[in-house]
Amino acid sequence: MTKPRWVDFHCHVDLYKDHARLIAECDAARVATLAVTTTPKAWPRNRELAAASQHVRVALGLHPQLVAERENELPLFERYLPDARYVGEVGLDAGPRYYRSFPAQERVFERVLRACAEQGGKILTIHSVRAVAKVLQHIEQALPQDRGRIVLHWFTGTPAEARRAVELGCYFSINREMLRSPKHQKLVAALPLDRLLTETDGPFVESDGQPLRPRDVATTVSELAHMRGLTPDAMADTILQTLGRLVAPAATS
Ligand code: MN
Repeated sequence: MTKPRWVDFHCHVDLYKDHARLIAECDAARVATLAVTTTPKAWPRNRELAAASQHVRVALGLHPQLVAERENELPLFERYLPDARYVGEVGLDAGPRYYRSFPAQERVFERVLRACAEQGGKILTIHSVRAVAKVLQHIEQALPQDRGRIVLHWFTGTPAEARRAVELGCYFSINREMLRSPKHQKLVAALPLDRLLTETDGPFVESDGQPLRPRDVATTVSELAHMRGLTPDAMADTILQTLGRLVAPAATS
């Protein structure tokens, strides 16, 4: 097993036209990539395509923006969950387009968190658009810190919410687009260095009209390095160490 060089902890690998080639590219460039899914129906095919990959792992997801049409896939999610170490994309979205399904989203998210807590050892990548306080509240109620680990993807909460998330043991995956906003850049600058990961959220984030690819996290690593007064190599190493801690099996007592 070759050591990864980069981390893309949130990428919709199955939404690229060249899905299989993208996986090969992650292995060639040694990008530890979490392939998130938006519906449990996508899980078997994603597993199959990544089965031989050294650096790509697949997460079982049920995206909050799809809950309105796909709440009925929750039993399928629960059926696959014992085979999944990684879970995502899951979470809540209170943006105007999805607000109507918010009660359903909360039902689904609560069930997902409780099932993860029951099985233990899961690592979740969580969406929290306009719903950070609610997301943290559900985590606090349903997923004790010793029963699972949380990565908040594209976090845009307030400084107080960031502190609360840190206290709850959360990690944060940072993408290029987040660092375009001065407000969010300031927020990222205040997060603990040892809780930071990188992500692309490709293909939804683009550069020059082209979807970002996992290897493009290199740019975000450089920007984070600059913000923290580190060399890009030192920043990349720090992120790899953080990934190591995140995925390490929990100590048993
Ligand atoms: Mn996403």
